[in-house]
Amino acid sequence: MKIRVLGCAGAMAAGHKTTSFLLDDDVLIDAGSGVGELSLEAMARIDHIFVSHSHLDHVLSIGLLADTVQRRRAQEGRPAVQVHALPQTLKALKDHIFNGVIWPDFTRLPTIEKPALTFHEFAIGDRLDIGRGREIEVLSAAHTVPAVGFAVNPGSGAHWVFTGDTGPNPALWKRLGELKLSDLVIECAFGNDECELAGISQHHCPITLGEELTKLKTPSVRVHITHIKPGERAAVMAAVEALKSAHRVTALEHFQEFELG
Ligand SMILES: [Zn+2]
Ligand SMILES: [Zn+2]
Repeated sequence: MKIRVLGCAGAMAAGHKTTSFLLDDDVLIDAGSGVGELSLEAMARIDHIFVSHSHLDHVLSIGLLADTVQRRRAQEGRPAVQVHALPQTLKALKDHIFNGVIWPDFTRLPTIEKPALTFHEFAIGDRLDIGRGREIEVLSAAHTVPAVGFAVNPGSGAHWVFTGDTGPNPALWKRLGELKLSDLVIECAFGNDECELAGISQHHCPITLGEELTKLKTPSVRVHITHIKPGERAAVMAAVEALKSAHRVTALEHFQEFELG
């Protein structure tokens, strides 16, 4: 299977889109502004969206995607797009986005019988079958709102892991210690000059990232840094390099592709 990075920035600017990953051609992990990189045809092929948490930079394209593809998918006889998240995240989406004020409720439109979106709850620890032999495991994250990460199991070979937005998180490392990993996409949203803010907002800065990476015991895992703000990339990556981690650590790239399995 293939994973393509559509957006990996912690904020936006030209050439910097927020978090979204495309798994093969039919599954999104998070729906930040990176979804706008897809053509109409590619967007209409999305059957599932897995949402790490309710923050805007990870969900802002769900409503726009629903509006964009609903007629086309109905004409092609395709079902509703399934949105998968924690119950608290789905409630936040319903209450604050699909509320008829910020955006129409596409879980009831264009008709109640055949809506554009359906919402599906998951729990931490669930291993969800997404077809074609692929599986997504829901990992814990430690953030200011209920949040998760995801481990993608391509069916054979090692897992590709996305931590989601998170601060220090012992439960994550406990589970990762039990999995065979190829790649770890982990956030580092702030530079070391903003470690205090990183702590308050439950993100990483290079200092806390370095402490976390010492818990990753297999040196062959490729580590990719995500969620860096536009303009902060050079400073954050210089501080990450100064950690002299035993792992191969690079910045995640827009449109980077992973071949799994
Ligand atoms: Zn967040
Ligand atoms: Zn975020």
